[in-house]
Amino acid sequence: TDADSDDGPDAGALRTPIVAVLGHVDHGKTSLLDKIRGSAVTAGESGAITQHIGSTAVPLDVISKMAGDLVDPTDFDLPGLLFIDTPGHHSFSTLRSRGGALADIAILVVDVNDGFQPQTLEAVDILKRTATPFIVAANKVDTVPGWNPNPDEPIQVTKEKQSDRASSDLDEKLYEIIGELSDNGFSADMYWRVQNFQANVGVVPVSAETGEGVPDLLTVLMGLSQRYLKEEMSVDVGGPGVGTVLEVKEARGFGTTVDAVVYDGTVREDDQIVVGGLNGPIVTDVRALLKPKPLAEIRTEQEFERVEEVAAADGVKIAAPDLDSAMAGAPVRVVRDQDVDEVIEAVEAELADIAVSTAEE
Ligand code: GDP
Repeated sequence: TDADSDDGPDAGALRTPIVAVLGHVDHGKTSLLDKIRGSAVTAGESGAITQHIGSTAVPLDVISKMAGDLVDPTDFDLPGLLFIDTPGHHSFSTLRSRGGALADIAILVVDVNDGFQPQTLEAVDILKRTATPFIVAANKVDTVPGWNPNPDEPIQVTKEKQSDRASSDLDEKLYEIIGELSDNGFSADMYWRVQNFQANVGVVPVSAETGEGVPDLLTVLMGLSQRYLKEEMSVDVGGPGVGTVLEVKEARGFGTTVDAVVYDGTVREDDQIVVGGLNGPIVTDVRALLKPKPLAEIRTEQEFERVEEVAAADGVKIAAPDLDSAMAGAPVRVVRDQDVDEVIEAVEAELADIAVSTAEE
């Protein structure tokens, strides 16, 4: 691949896997996402991390810096991971792509002290129904009595530095979670013992507070995606863009905009697009594609900078006329060399599918 090419993204390139975070309330979903984002900002060049548009892209080089010895970037040809910033199964269920889940892979967060709770079970059901591969983040390991935190270290490194008592206390809690997964039809084990992540769910002990185990979590996500999602990630990155609206928002100077995740193809500044709306498909033209400015520059007047194009998978704010009735969860499709009526029909069909699945809930 030629990253410096001016012709835009390579055809046949692999796209970024989209990651969702699920779990019971207060088990640490938001904290975990914040931790990943925060560590990524520290590890990366300031421009590398995008946020404030409903999703956070963490490129491979940043992941490998965060994961240290655990990740050898030459083992991977996926470009990184894209995290959906709104955790929880409501957003998981409403954010769809072509009838399936928008997320390719999920992190199920379980508090090591609380174990499985009602929303954990609901999340497991949804992951089962949608056949979404997932790993379990057994969170809050720092709350094990006598735990001695070693910030941001791999879990096995920090676990070895704990007292026998704290280490076996943690093991006991982890085996309870493994047992609960088994009761729900998933064979599971500590992630370092899992050979086949398609047959077994890997449990990764973490602390969203201290960052312990976060390197492992990212490594397992990359490994799992690389091994089992590669075929799904082979998209025509240069083709007409397809995405899902995360949120409809006012942006100063741009009127109503949509924050979207592009999961296939490319969206360009001059593209005609069809967006799902409350009263049916909206046909409009992209006026601007906006990305958040690097954190360091955000204090300046403009929060966003314009980009010429966005390739899958990535988050972007799309400014275009007539987006007032655009709908969260609805599709966005680029028309380009396709027949506009066919694209409208595709969007209508996807909107009907959303209406059906919403009625089922
Ligand atoms: P959510 O509802 O799943 O998004 O949970 P939050 O991320 O809001 O976390 C709920 C509470 O647990 C907050 O008070 C967090 O500070 C706390 N918390 C989350 N993760 C950890 C952790 O790893 N260790 C400790 N000690 N507290 C945590």
